[in-house]
Formats: sequence, structure tokens, C-alpha cells
Amino acid sequence: MTGYKIHEHEFDMVVVGAGGAGLRATFGLAQQGLKTACISKVFPTRSHTVAAQGGVAAALANMGEDDWRYHFFDTVKGSDWLGDQDAIEYMCKEAIPAIVELEHYGVPFSRTEEGKIYQRPFGGMTTRYGEGPPAQRTCAAADRTGHAILHTLYQQSLAHDAQFFIEYFALDLIMDDAGACRGVLALEMATGELHLFRSHGVVLATGGYGRAYFSATSAHTCTGDGGGMALRAGLAMQDMEFVQFHPTGIYGAGCLITEGVRGEGGILRNSNGERFMERYAPSVKDLAPRDMVSRAMTMEIREGRGVGEHKDHILLDLTHLGPEVIHEKLPGIAESARIFAGVDVTKEPIPVLPTVHYNMGGIPTNYHGEVVQLKDGNPDTVVPGLFAIGEAACVSVHGANRLGSNSLLDLVVFGRAVSHRAAELIKPNSPHGQLPEHALDAAIAHLDRIRNADGSTPTAVIRDRMQRTMQRDAAVFRTGETLDEGVKAIRDIHASFADVKISDRSLVWNTDLIETLELENLLDQALVTIVSAANREESRGAHAREDFPKRDDANWMKHTLASVDRNGNTHIDYRPVHMYTLTDDVAVIPPKERKY
Ligand SMILES: Cc1cc2nc3c(=O)[nH]c(=O)nc-3n(C[C@H](O)[C@H](O)[C@H](O)COP(=O)(O)OP(=O)(O)OC[C@H]3O[C@@H](n4cnc5c(N)ncnc54)[C@H](O)[C@@H]3O)c2cc1C
Repeated sequence: MTGYKIHEHEFDMVVVGAGGAGLRATFGLAQQGLKTACISKVFPTRSHTVAAQGGVAAALANMGEDDWRYHFFDTVKGSDWLGDQDAIEYMCKEAIPAIVELEHYGVPFSRTEEGKIYQRPFGGMTTRYGEGPPAQRTCAAADRTGHAILHTLYQQSLAHDAQFFIEYFALDLIMDDAGACRGVLALEMATGELHLFRSHGVVLATGGYGRAYFSATSAHTCTGDGGGMALRAGLAMQDMEFVQFHPTGIYGAGCLITEGVRGEGGILRNSNGERFMERYAPSVKDLAPRDMVSRAMTMEIREGRGVGEHKDHILLDLTHLGPEVIHEKLPGIAESARIFAGVDVTKEPIPVLPTVHYNMGGIPTNYHGEVVQLKDGNPDTVVPGLFAIGEAACVSVHGANRLGSNSLLDLVVFGRAVSHRAAELIKPNSPHGQLPEHALDAAIAHLDRIRNADGSTPTAVIRDRMQRTMQRDAAVFRTGETLDEGVKAIRDIHASFADVKISDRSLVWNTDLIETLELENLLDQALVTIVSAANREESRGAHAREDFPKRDDANWMKHTLASVDRNGNTHIDYRPVHMYTLTDDVAVIPPKERKY
């Protein structure tokens, strides 16, 4: 039928992605007795999670007063009331057992004098429903927390007999005529052979799409392939307009300097040496949430108080912390600053600039990790057989703005939730029904089209245009005018993909092909991101419109759903925000003005 050699595999569950989310799900599923495969385009421990520095939030109260309800409040407020409160309750409550489990699985957390898990303050994390002092809630393994977690999870996955398919590139979801997901088609990168993974459930854990932008802290592999697959399957993505800029990317290089630096006492200064955050967030200062700090830095630069030859960046000063604290708590960033900025952090400040860091938007799910869509008027209709977790998903616990250290938490909590849910739904080793005859046609045609692409524009040229346009037009501050220009430009760039040129026609380690498949995934997501941003006429969290500077709860306290068809036509719909909790353990936080 296809001319390709296709290997067939049958599993109970297939996880696409071996970052923190994918691995937590993989070993949880295997632990439940489900026959589980994990597919990854990179070696598991090279997934972007390995780069996470600062830590993972949980109200353990190891280093002072704390309560998961305070964490719940902070996350709702941090989300600027776009987060679903049922899911946030679930995450903040489950954080405690999920982190204790991680400790028992072997994550080498830093320790307090008494031997408890060390916790540091992070932006937007407070006590007593925002009235008390900052909470020390972020559990850390020095400044290499993601590294520690990822390696432990990989070891646990191997111990639980999950089967890995490493350097396999997932191409497309296999959907049946009833709209259920029945498996995934993948390309073995070393040989170019195709593999059909049939399963009762597919978990998309493919990470974010930071590489739609020119300057991002995320790895070059963060191309949102799961979102691309979902969009090609006709599914809608949620809240894509909310893109987080981290305040402290190294100027020029874009590498991250963790918020943990400010958690340990680091201070942002403008060209006058002023600690300007005192003016923007008088109570929490440098530990305000990321959207606010990024905006404050941009304002300082705009008003001429930036540093450097072009007055276009800001300084992060940690010289006052002393070499002992830096050596013990922040060894990794001292190294990054030396390599990427040529700075000795014990003596000089680090040049920094807000840099794209995290995608709040993604594939919509409920708190079990099941993918949901708006269907026949029901916004919570589950897509059978399809799950999404981690940065690829939008649960939505982060709403319009994620608090630092809540992502690593989201990975482990919802990775774990998927394994619980799948165990309820799927009996181990149950038989796989017949696949429709044409089930693979769309996926094969898609691969064929790109493999044989014979246009005139190289992949790298289209990618560069997309990244520069997104960086310029879907930035920290946005206006109707720049967004409309951006939409037009991205539509043109998206259409120019029809003219893409691939030079390598082989199938063995064809990086030209892989990069082009990744670009296509990025383009679809860049398009729905900027279209959603132009559509949302208010300012909320990371989406700051100069023409609509206020949050507008009456009209816009709702999730955006955006999809795109194969001709590049976009469609927008909405889902209500869940303004209810799961239990009476905690009360709904009604919207109010977000001040720190
Ligand atoms: C530099 C940096 C520091 C951060 N620090 C923190 C922090 O301190 N605390 C915090 O809470 N958050 C932090 N974050 C955010 C957090 O680390 C990420 O959101 C999170 O790690 C994403 O994990 P994930 O499992 O969803 O995806 P990833 O870790 O990105 O993994 C994606 C996986 O999917 C696989 N994959 C993708 N596409 C395909 C495909 N087509 N076929 C097969 N496999 C595929 C990849 O191989 C990979 O295994 C940080 C992020 C960055 C970039």
C-alpha cells in the first residue's frame, strides 16, 4: 500500500516523549502492569527537563510555615484567574505525596541541617493567601533539579520494564473514524524505517514549542511536535496566546539564569544601579511573578535605563551573596554565566533580558490528563485514547502565567495522574481491534509530501522568518497593530511552507527531513499563537496588550480554543474557566485585581 517497510507493535499504552512528564507516566503505567512503550526523538536524559534549574514546588513546610491551600491561592492568582481551579486544587494537594515519592525513588534533593528537603523562595509563592511573607516552597537539588529528577525517573522506568524506542520520531497520531486515537506512526531515525505503534492509549508528552521564537531558553528540540500532531488530527489547542518570557535569559545567548538566583537574594538593577522592582512590586520586589518582572524590565529599557552600549538590557546582581552561597546553592549558573556571558558572578553582575521560556498553552486536558475538546456544545468531551501531559498540555493549571517551579510539579503530578487513569480504563493485554483500511493514509501522505518536497526555499530560511516575526510581533508587550501585522506575516510564512526545499532524499539519519517535519509543527503553532493573541482584546498574565491594558473578566475570562486546517485557515472557539474546586477542602478564589 505504501512502499515503506512498516514494523507493527502492540502495546497497552504508548508514551511519546521521555522528559519529566513522559518518564513519570511511562514508569507509572508500567508499574500498574500495563505494557508500555516510550518513544523519544532524543536519548531520554537529554530531554529539555534536564536543563531545569530552580526546583519543584510543594507545600512541604520544611523551612517555615506553609499549606497546600496557600499554594493553591498563589497558583490561581499567578494564573490571573485563567487557571481551572479544580485542576489547580488537584495539583497543589497531590504535590506533597508526589514529591515525597520522588524523594523515595531516589532524587538527590539538597538538604536542610535536619536532613529535610531544602526549599527556596520563588516568584509569586507566598503564605496566608498572599498576606504573609514569601513561602519557601520550591524543592531544589542545588540548581540542577531537572537533571536530578530526569535521571531518577529514567532509572525507575528501566527498573519497571517499560520498553524504550530511542531516536524514534513520532510523525502522526492514528485516529479512527469515530475520532478515537488508536496509535501513533513513528520514523526510526537511524534506518528510516517506519513503526506503527498500536495502543489503547497514546500519551503526548512532547514538551513545549519555544523554538517558534528567535530567542528562547528551551532546547532546539522543543518544537511542539505533539501539538503539531494534534492540530493535524483536527484538534484544537488551548490558550496559545500565553507565552511566558523569563526575566533572566543571558543577554545575547538566551540561556537561562534561574529565578532561584533571585530566590537566594539576587537583585535586578538598571543603569542607575537602582533596584527598580521596588517601584513595580513593593512587597515582593524581585520575587514578583515572571510576567510582571519581564514587563518592568522592558519598561526600564524603554525609558532609557537599560545598560550596555545600546542600553538594551538589565543587570542581575548577586555579588553580595558571597562565594559560599553561590558555590553551594547556584554552582550551575556560575558556570553558565562564565561560559555564556564571560562573567565571574562573585565579582560582576550578569547581563540579562526577558527571553521566551514556557508555553502556558497546549493540548487541552482535564485533570486526569485526558484530552478534551468542545463537541456538540460540551467543552469537556474526552477524545478517547488520547492523553497529554507536561508542557505539551494545557490542563489548565498555569492559566495566563505560570509560577516558577510549578512546571516540574505539573510534570510529575499529571504524569502520575495519567497512569492512575489508564489503569482504571484499560485492562492489561486486552486485544486491539481492527484498524480501518485507510487509517495510515493521511500519515503516510504527510511524510511523503515532505520527503519529496522540491520547492525553492530551504527549511532554515522559513524557520528564521517565522522566529524573527514571532519575536517581534508576539512579544512581552503587544498592540492590535503589531499583532495584525504579525498575523499577516505568519500566514504568509505558513503558506510559504508549500515551497519548502529538502535536499537530502535518503532515509538514514536525515536531519534535513527531521528539521522540516519539526518546522511544520512549529509553523502551525506559531500561527494559532499569534491569531489567538490578536483575538484576545484584554491584558491578562503574559498577554499584555497596550491597546487593551486592563483585564476584562466580563468578556474574556474564558479559554481560547484555536485550530487550523490543512489550508492554513484558523478557527477560534472558547471553553469556560472551571470556577469550582474538586472538594470542600478549599474554597474557590474569586477574581480580583492582581497586585503584589
Ligand atoms: C532552561 C529551563 C529551565 C527550567 N527550569 C524550571 C524549573 O526550575 N522549575 C520548573 O518547574 N520548570 C522549569 N522549566 C520548565 C520545565 O522544565 C519544562 O516545562 C518541562 O521540563 C517540560 O517537560 P516535558 O516532559 O513536558 O517535556 P521535555 O522535557 O521537553 O521533553 C520532551 C520529550 O518529548 C520527546 N519528543 C518531542 N517530540 C517528539 C517526537 N516527534 N517524537 C518522539 N519524541 C518526541 C523528546 O525526545 C523529549 O523526550 C525550565 C525550562 C527551561 C527551558
